Amino acid sequence: MESIKCIGVLTSGGDAPGMNAAIRAVTRAAIFNGIRVMGIYRGYRGLITDEIVEFKTNSVSNIIQQGGTILKTARCVEFRTPEGRKVAYENMQKHGIDSLVVIGGDGSLTGASIFANEYNIPVVGLPGTIDNDLGGTDVTIGYDTALNTIMQSVDKIRDTATSHERLFFIEVMGRNCGYLALNSAIAAGAEAAIIPEISIEKDQLSELIQQGFRKSKSSSLVLVTESDVTGGALKLAERVKNEYPQYDVRVSILGHLQRGGSPTAQDRILASRMGVAAIEALLENQRNVMMGIRENEIDYVPFKRAIKQEREINDELLQVLKISSI
Ligand code: ADP
Repeated sequence: MESIKCIGVLTSGGDAPGMNAAIRAVTRAAIFNGIRVMGIYRGYRGLITDEIVEFKTNSVSNIIQQGGTILKTARCVEFRTPEGRKVAYENMQKHGIDSLVVIGGDGSLTGASIFANEYNIPVVGLPGTIDNDLGGTDVTIGYDTALNTIMQSVDKIRDTATSHERLFFIEVMGRNCGYLALNSAIAAGAEAAIIPEISIEKDQLSELIQQGFRKSKSSSLVLVTESDVTGGALKLAERVKNEYPQYDVRVSILGHLQRGGSPTAQDRILASRMGVAAIEALLENQRNVMMGIRENEIDYVPFKRAIKQEREINDELLQVLKISSI
């Protein structure tokens, strides 16, 4: 197998705090090992439109504390087509890029896997998403920061909920994954979390109300994952207005503020470890793997396992929330 001489690094899909720390670690680890680094702007789109610039160690100075991504990110329809990926490959060749490090979520790693197989290129991935919805890793880059941001927001909403004795549905991100809602509910001392993993089987709202929810409390906070399965906070509030008019209900959708902000220490450390590990993986001739973390050890997770795995929700966390909110 040919040795790695020049890597391309890109961030793709939804941005997440800690992506910059990951870019920095990948860049510095590559240069440390005598490998050139090309920064690819705007994800796969930049690979197709040739927005590629060589990175030196100082290209990534002073970014570890910044949210977002200095490489920008984008969603790129062309990369979903063989024609688009062909242009991407030609641009890689033009710049002498022989391998790729892709920092992104489920979709970005799906694209990475397809591209790697099509052109037989070494590609490794880093899980960059606040949703914590990838398989084979305990946490993803950005998740801890988002969790802290949500917790702080819920603490503030609690003040008005208590003062007015209201029921609040607070909608958070997560797509098909309830980890953000469930763990932020525990951290903020909320009453319940309505998450996609459970609502397929039962009507969580009526169960909550039937359990005598809010009997002895002056206010209630319920975290809801933004998802077709849960129906989202607005739909739930509508139902409460119609079915349980005794409650004074309000909705707060946290939206994009969940993605922003300076990454926590945990996310910076995670991103730095995964960035260094990604270069080591390439040097070990690994390909088609995502960096994961399990029991505080770095693990190489095959893309297939990282992407398609339905993450099961941890029953212990559900139990903790239930017990601690009586
Ligand atoms: P995320 O990585 O945050 O899950 P997306 O799902 O939007 O974000 O994916 C980001 C980008 O990855 C897409 O815009 C597209 O360029 C690429 N991508 C996603 N799925 C595929 C696919 N099946 N084939 C090729 N490229 C894909």
